[in-house]
Parts: sequence; C-alpha cells; structure tokens
Amino acid sequence: MAQSPVMDKLVSLCKRRGFVFQSSEIYGGLGSVWDYGPLGVELKRNVKDRWWHAMVRAREDIEGLDAAILMHPKVWEASGHVAGFSDPLVDCKTCKARFRADQIADAACPQKPSKHPGEHSTCSLTEPRMFNLMFKTVMGPVEESGSVVYLRPETAQGIYVNYLNVLQSSRQRIPFGIAQIGKAFRNEITPGNFIFRTREFEQMEMQFFVKPGDDAEWFERWRGLRMAWHQELGLNPDKLRWHPHVESELAHYARAAYDIEYEFPFGWSEIEGIHNRGDFDLTNHQTVSGKKLEYFDQASNTRYLPNVVETSAGADRIALTLLVDAFREEQVEGETRTVLGFHPSIAPIKAAVLPLVNKDAMPEMATGLFNDIRKKFACFYDDGGAIGRRYRRMDEVGTPFCVTVDGQTADDRTVTVRHRDSMAQDRIGIDAVAAYLSERLT
Ligand code: ATP
Repeated sequence: MAQSPVMDKLVSLCKRRGFVFQSSEIYGGLGSVWDYGPLGVELKRNVKDRWWHAMVRAREDIEGLDAAILMHPKVWEASGHVAGFSDPLVDCKTCKARFRADQIADAACPQKPSKHPGEHSTCSLTEPRMFNLMFKTVMGPVEESGSVVYLRPETAQGIYVNYLNVLQSSRQRIPFGIAQIGKAFRNEITPGNFIFRTREFEQMEMQFFVKPGDDAEWFERWRGLRMAWHQELGLNPDKLRWHPHVESELAHYARAAYDIEYEFPFGWSEIEGIHNRGDFDLTNHQTVSGKKLEYFDQASNTRYLPNVVETSAGADRIALTLLVDAFREEQVEGETRTVLGFHPSIAPIKAAVLPLVNKDAMPEMATGLFNDIRKKFACFYDDGGAIGRRYRRMDEVGTPFCVTVDGQTADDRTVTVRHRDSMAQDRIGIDAVAAYLSERLT
C-alpha cells in the first residue's frame, strides 16, 4: 500500500541521514527487517536508556534481567503460543497477495483501482486459515522434530521462568517487578509501515508480580505511570490516547488490557500494551514444568501464585513515534527547513561544534571545545560548507544546539550557541559551554 507523503519523506530522511536502512539492501532487501545506522542506533539507545532508567534504576521494586532468545520449547507450549499465537491468513489466488482476515477492511488489493481485497470481480480469496507467527529453527546438528526451537515472539516468558531465581537472589518481596529489553521475532503476515511492524524487533517489557486481589489496583497504577513516561518524551499529548480492549479483543492470557496508541500518518496504532495477566502464565508454567512456582508470604504465612501486571512496549515503534512526532517542515527565508524537533534527551546528537571558517585559529579552538564536551555528550564536529547549510544539516537530524566558534572567539573567548527550534543565538563564554549544555540537556 502507498505510504503517506510524510512517511515517504521520513523514510527517505532516515536512509539519507543514517537512521534506518533496509536489511541486506544490496541483495534487494529482506521483507520488513531493518538495520539502524549511526544516528538511529543512538536514537533507539536513548529510548531504551530512558526506559531502563525509569523502570529499573529509579525504582527499588524492579530488577533487571537479560534472558536468552532461545528457550526450552515447552515454554511456548505452556505460554499458549504453540497452540494460539496465530493470525487468520487469507490468500488471493488471483494476485497472490496475502492478508490478515481480521484486517481486510483496512487492507488494499494490489489491483487498480484501489479497493479492499475481495471487492474486484477478479478477486479470489481463500478461506481464512490460522498461521502461527513464531519463527522455528533447529538446535544441534540433526534436523529432526525433537530439535525444533523457536525464536521468542516476546520477552515476557524469560521473565516468568526466572521469577523465582530473581526473587531469591535479589531478596525482593511481592509486590515487585522484573524488567527486560531484548529482541523478539514474529513472522507477521502483513508487516509494514516502515519500522512500525517488523519481523525482528526489540521489546521493553516489565512484569510486575502482585498479591492476588491487588492486580486491578496495580494495573491502574501502571497505566498512569506508562502514559506519563510517553508524555515525558515530549510527544504531542493530543496524539496519545488509550484504547481499552473489549472482551472480544482480549488476548488469551489477559483479564484486562489497554493499549497506548499514537496517531501516526497511517492512523491511530498501538505503541505499548498494559495487561493484567492474572496468574495465567505462572499457573501454566507450574503445570507444564511440574515445578512449584508459589510465593511464600512471610507476613501472612501463606503461599500463593502471584498475579502479573505487564507493561509491554516496542523500542522500534517508539523510535518511529519519536521520528514522526518530531518531523516538521517550515518555511524560513523562502526555503524549506526540515527539522526533527526531538526532546534533547532523545536527540542522537546533543550538540554540534562548528568553526565559522577554517582559518584564524578557529579550527583549533573549535577542536579543543569539541574534545572537551564530547566527554560528556554525543557531539558532532562539522567544518564543511557554509554555516547556514551546516545549521540545516543539524536541524534535519534533530541536534538541539550548534556551538559556533567565530572571529570574536579569539578576542574574548566567547562562542554562539544556536537553538534548533527558535534559531535564536546566545553568546556565552567558551569555558561555560559544558555547563550551559548540561543545564539544558539533563
Ligand atoms: P499489534 O496488535 O500491533 O500486532 P500486539 O498487540 O501483538 O501488537 P503485543 O504482543 O502486546 O503487541 O506487543 C507489545 C508491543 O511490542 C507492542 O505494543 C509493540 O510496541 C511491540 N510490537 C509487537 N509486535 C511488533 C512488530 N511486529 N514490530 C514492531 N514492534 C512490535
């Protein structure tokens, strides 16, 4: 399906400026798999760092974990993924395209004029059949059924099977949580919208273990905290909303679920899910593994299986949300200025250092300043081309500050600091630059 003009511009900017490249491009690309370039990797790392800080470092009741991607195949039987992690797939025998049966109303038939699948007289859709989204591979040298393992479709299960290990080694007590960032893989039928729906992606998930009966209250608390986190990224609050799952939408494990949605150019879509999973997962792992997973509550001298409230966000989807939210074009002195107006904490480059011209000791002073501030912030040195063009290049990748060393610097040791959004300039002492940036970036 054709993308919106904004998405087309963003995809092209991302490639040109080194945010995101198509995987294996020189071989024609691999469907819905993407690589992050120098600026993209910084952007995504900033997202993950902010999440890790808010969820693990700033809290005493959440521990971190990094479980392996490959897990015992029984994990996926217990979790319900082998039996139920499927989408209904429909093929068109005429054009060979594939659609999700539950998304036909939003899909476009590749034939012209543009219509939904099934609406052309020549369309010939098959009956829906269930298609499991898990990628399979084999472990060990012999390819036989007993050696089949899966690439995890979510990070959550690594947390459930480790919950007692973490509990015992960290001396936490319920209520407490375990957080993890890691890759997940889904053989999506209709991936697309750039890095919104991909087959390999990164999740940032937290499972919070609570006493049965306390789950509804913790679910509400986590809803509030997670929405606030997205707002603090600087996202336009009018473009964020809740989507509550009605009974028919609820996943097999969920008692209640709300999605946080963002209004993308292609419509409102989920960026994070908050789920009340009850004791579904621990009960099933206890049954299938045969190992007791109960928690002993010393205060009440009772044993129980905790309930779980999950917050599950995609790092790639949030990176896309930040790119879309930040992208703007404006007219400045008869020219189009493209800006990524990132919140400074998210911007891949925090400050650029620019000698006005490459003479009169300006490069030496600029290099000295650059070497000083790069110890603290992700910085960029640019001495190529007219200063206006260099400012525009930095605007386009969302750099909040440009520090320019000019003819006056040698006389009074001052530089200009140009602000990306207002384009206003301050003149400050060269020795004060680090403190000036610190104040505004942290
Ligand atoms: P969707 O309805 O969009 O397929 P989902 O409900 O299956 O998503 P969850 O299983 O709740 O998603 O996953 C939690 C989060 O992981 C999502 O909110 C999203 O940010 C991210 N995510 C899920 N699938 C993908 C994907 N294919 N590509 C990128 N991110 C994904």
